[in-house]
Amino acid sequence: MTKHIFVTGGVVSSLGKGLTTASIANLLESRGLRVRIQKFDPYLNVDAGTMNPFQHGEVYVTADGGETDLDLGHYERFSNCPLTRACNVTTGRIYQNVITKERRGAYLGGCVQVVPHVTNEIKAHIRQFDGPEVDVVLSELGGTAGDIESAAYLEAFRQFAYEHGRDNCVFVHLTLIPYLRASGELKTKPTQQSVGILRQIGIQPDMLVCRTEKSMTQEMRDKIALFCNVEKKYVFEEKDVEHSIYELPLVLHEQGVDDAMIHRLGLPTKPANLDEWQKLVHTVTNPKGSVEIAVVGKYIELKDAYKSVYEAIAHAGIANNVDVNVQRIAAEEITDDNVGAKLRGVCGILVPGGFGERGIEGKISAVRFARENRVPYYGLCLGMQIATIEFARNVCGLKGAHSTEFAKDSPHPVITLLKDQVNIKDMGGTMRLGAQPCKLTEGSIARKAYGAELVQERHRHRYEFNNAYRKQLSEKGLVISGINPELDLVEIVEIKDHPFFVGVQFHPEFQSKPTKAHPLFREFVAASLKRKASM
Ligand code: GLN
Repeated sequence: MTKHIFVTGGVVSSLGKGLTTASIANLLESRGLRVRIQKFDPYLNVDAGTMNPFQHGEVYVTADGGETDLDLGHYERFSNCPLTRACNVTTGRIYQNVITKERRGAYLGGCVQVVPHVTNEIKAHIRQFDGPEVDVVLSELGGTAGDIESAAYLEAFRQFAYEHGRDNCVFVHLTLIPYLRASGELKTKPTQQSVGILRQIGIQPDMLVCRTEKSMTQEMRDKIALFCNVEKKYVFEEKDVEHSIYELPLVLHEQGVDDAMIHRLGLPTKPANLDEWQKLVHTVTNPKGSVEIAVVGKYIELKDAYKSVYEAIAHAGIANNVDVNVQRIAAEEITDDNVGAKLRGVCGILVPGGFGERGIEGKISAVRFARENRVPYYGLCLGMQIATIEFARNVCGLKGAHSTEFAKDSPHPVITLLKDQVNIKDMGGTMRLGAQPCKLTEGSIARKAYGAELVQERHRHRYEFNNAYRKQLSEKGLVISGINPELDLVEIVEIKDHPFFVGVQFHPEFQSKPTKAHPLFREFVAASLKRKASM
């Protein structure tokens, strides 16, 4: 029988529930268990694709083209669980299913209600991965206990555990123990109250993971256990990690979190195999140097907006045994006049993906600076389109070259919409999405980095390199080093005689893992290190 672990959060959001869930999955896998993870998001968007990064951080893309919450990125980086669009369930999707069924008459004239119809729909999703191939399903609930919008989920979780057998389910509640600087104390009351909310609904959490800045005393743990009605040995502490989020599974393992779950669920035990992970953490905590890389973007204030990009850069640092200092630079503040000053001292420049016009000209200036000064450049999606525009304007002399996303009437639309995108009215789920093949050109930087001829990379964009300009740009030295063999679309551009200048139409950051850095990120950081050595 498949067992279930539910992860809820209390007191405040942004406690790192996704990281904790991902770390638990990591630990259970290290014990030889077959795990699945899913995230329930209580908002009405059908998926995360229509949300802007300011509100909800990066939109993570699964191989099958799902536009999902960024927590799925953590799941993929920390575990080997297969993740698809089905692993992110939103209230929008639940209601869409219920309403579709209602329109079909599937409820046979019944009055359709939150309980039982919506809760039944949620329960059907909770058990979607159950079967002989899956030992444990982790279900994380977005938001915080007490939110009006998560009520139906908590009720569904409660009902599910009742029906599936309470012993076959574990409720983990992640909560905050705030530290009051003025009085120099950690406070447990918010945790007591948050657990109180769950108990009112009929959920008695089995385990508490307490987020805290300072270590809790045993006395404090005992008090939390007593007041929250949780066994003492199941009150865990999750202090802010010192160096890297990848320390978290080890922090939890040391406290016996995996043992506790395995024991509580009656799962077969195997000793944890964490060798690879320990090695990784050792590398992160003992870097042999550092390198400065600039990320020139639109949402640089918000770390979550380019989450996977920053993580992939960190992985590349691990692969090169160095610490990468990322300088986040606002594209809209860059001009041709100040670009030298803004990017002084950086050893590599990265322009990530993006939508909308703000900061575009600044990004073009940054790319020009990288090209002319032979600074390693790495462009992701929009960053590749920008590189193409810069090359067209400043190397090929195509004045006004642009993407039709930003200049409908550009005389040289080097980036444009494909025909099948022109008449699209619905914005949700209609971009070029998910994993697609890319054939690499012999002798290119990309071909060498990947060490393979055919690769699969994930996409999320509407606009494309305009094939009408392929010949003209190639003749001037733009190397088309990756092509989608089925659609004949340009996927990678490089520049000849440059230490590292690579723009990719896809999002390689989604496939990078801490234990296996993405080859292009790895080589970009390697090239940046080389530049540093020569500076
Ligand atoms: N806005 C561009 C497009 O839609 C780039 C998208 C991206 O960077 N993800 O094609």
